Amino acid sequence: MKFRLSYRKRILLYFFVIIAIFTVGIILFEQKQIRYERTRSLENMLDSNADFIHRYIEGKNIAFSDTMPQLDELITYLPDNLRLTIIDKAGVVVYDNLLDKRIMTNHIDRPEIQKAIGFGSGSNIRMSDSNYIRYLYYANNYEGKYFIRVALPYEVEVRPFLNSKNSFMYFILLFFIVSVLMMFYFANKFSKSIKELKEFAVNLKNEKPVKTAFQFPDDEVGEVSAEIVENYNLLKENRKKLALEREKLIQHFQYSEEGIAIFSEERKKIYTNSHFLQFLNIIVDKPVLEDEYLFSDSNFEEIVTFLDSTDRSENVFSTRIEKSGKQFNIRVIIFEDKNFEIYISDITKAEKRRLLKQEITNNIAHELRTPVTSIRGYLETILSLNPKDIARQQAFIDRAYVQTIRLSELIQDISMLTKIEEAADRFIREPVYMKPLLDELGSDLSDIFHKKNITFNIDVADGVIIYGSRTLLYSIFRNLVDNSIAYAGETIQITIRCYMESDDAVYFEFHDNGIGVEEKHLVKIFERFYRVNEGRTRDTGGSGLGLSIVKNAVLLHKGNIVAKNRPEGGLLFLITFPKTKN
Ligand code: ADP
Repeated sequence: MKFRLSYRKRILLYFFVIIAIFTVGIILFEQKQIRYERTRSLENMLDSNADFIHRYIEGKNIAFSDTMPQLDELITYLPDNLRLTIIDKAGVVVYDNLLDKRIMTNHIDRPEIQKAIGFGSGSNIRMSDSNYIRYLYYANNYEGKYFIRVALPYEVEVRPFLNSKNSFMYFILLFFIVSVLMMFYFANKFSKSIKELKEFAVNLKNEKPVKTAFQFPDDEVGEVSAEIVENYNLLKENRKKLALEREKLIQHFQYSEEGIAIFSEERKKIYTNSHFLQFLNIIVDKPVLEDEYLFSDSNFEEIVTFLDSTDRSENVFSTRIEKSGKQFNIRVIIFEDKNFEIYISDITKAEKRRLLKQEITNNIAHELRTPVTSIRGYLETILSLNPKDIARQQAFIDRAYVQTIRLSELIQDISMLTKIEEAADRFIREPVYMKPLLDELGSDLSDIFHKKNITFNIDVADGVIIYGSRTLLYSIFRNLVDNSIAYAGETIQITIRCYMESDDAVYFEFHDNGIGVEEKHLVKIFERFYRVNEGRTRDTGGSGLGLSIVKNAVLLHKGNIVAKNRPEGGLLFLITFPKTKN
């Protein structure tokens, strides 16, 4: 593991180095200052000694000679270790209290003498060539006659001086200790926020409970930490929302009627719903358990080619596969991250419905063509007739009119049927009392009953109620009665009876005592456009949709209807309506 200092230790180290450098700097500066001041004061002392000696020489009129006992005596009154040298203006040593002047070299080039020549006085610190002691030399130039040079051993004098200032060292030490303590205090204080931030991050990683935004110290790091907590909470919330959305999506996939699978770029399964494998097994030739198998199956060749292609302009591709009498729509969507979705929908039913619709449309066109062609024929005949032949014209106009009525009835039936199938919710559902409804039907048709000598019997109790559409319930029985009138024959009896009512259903019987329907046609009479006697009924006006409307209307009420011939003659319909509201 790489060695790493904690934030606190690093602050401590940096501050320690700074304080140490600062302290050493102060000590060095102070020492230099002391040295300078001591040198200055030594120089002053040496200067007054030199002056004193000069005045002594002048006062006593001492002449320079080989021996100068007066000076030797004077020295005894001056500070210990003081060295006195008198040098004439040519640099020749005329007196030295420590060394023999005869062996001493010319002193004109000594720095202090040079300075004294230039400025009247001068000093220099150096090792003596004569006795190898470090001296502070001080020389004064006296009116160009001679130089008095006094010197004291330098080191010996400075050290005690420094020692005497040891209180300064104690002060610096104290300053250093206080600074270090303060440094500890502040480092702890500053690193507290960082430490807490680190704890927060570690807790977060280990999924332990974390602090709220309000528990951080009131400083910049605390502020940053609080911001991070807030962002983290926001992130957590968003992540939760995202997970929820994902869950919804997955549920949607699970309950979807379609087969949905998501694969990675490497074609590894990420998600598939149960329908997917089921559809896949219908399409592929041998049973498989792996969704990824599809990439090696020949039925999915087109899909694989699309996925392999590098220059595709679209990210979506759809195709159709027909297998085992079923039709599938396959769609591939490639996402931005190169993952992709394969979507298989079973369109067999939809396709069948589409074909049925197509057939119905063809039938409708065919049915409409008959009356329209007739009307056109009649009108053309009228136009070709002699305008004066009013009687024949009238006859054709009458026929054309009948066809127009047929046409309009056909259209009405078609639209009724379409409405039942496509817009069932347009029929208002309500509790319908059947007795009054059937009475109304009887009175609507009373004229024709009378004309055709038909007896209409209603055997339904007053309280029989069906929850459903009044319009459709009327239409069911109206179509049945109309059929009896049209096909059963003359002088017949029509009966509508509620023969049973249980807790959950109402049972009706409709019958007439007419000619009935041949058994082979019975199963087909509910089909659209089915007529028993094709040629005849087409002319007499039936659309072949009446019983289709009846059947669909009954089914819309979740009921059922069957037709059968009565043993005593005539057609019988048994109709059941459930009592529930749905
Ligand atoms: P349409 O709308 O042309 O009347 P339907 O679908 O109602 O056609 O009836 C289909 C066929 O069933 C009719 O062509 C008719 O021959 C026969 N049919 C219906 N009701 C009766 C009945 N009560 N008695 C005899 N035949 C009937």
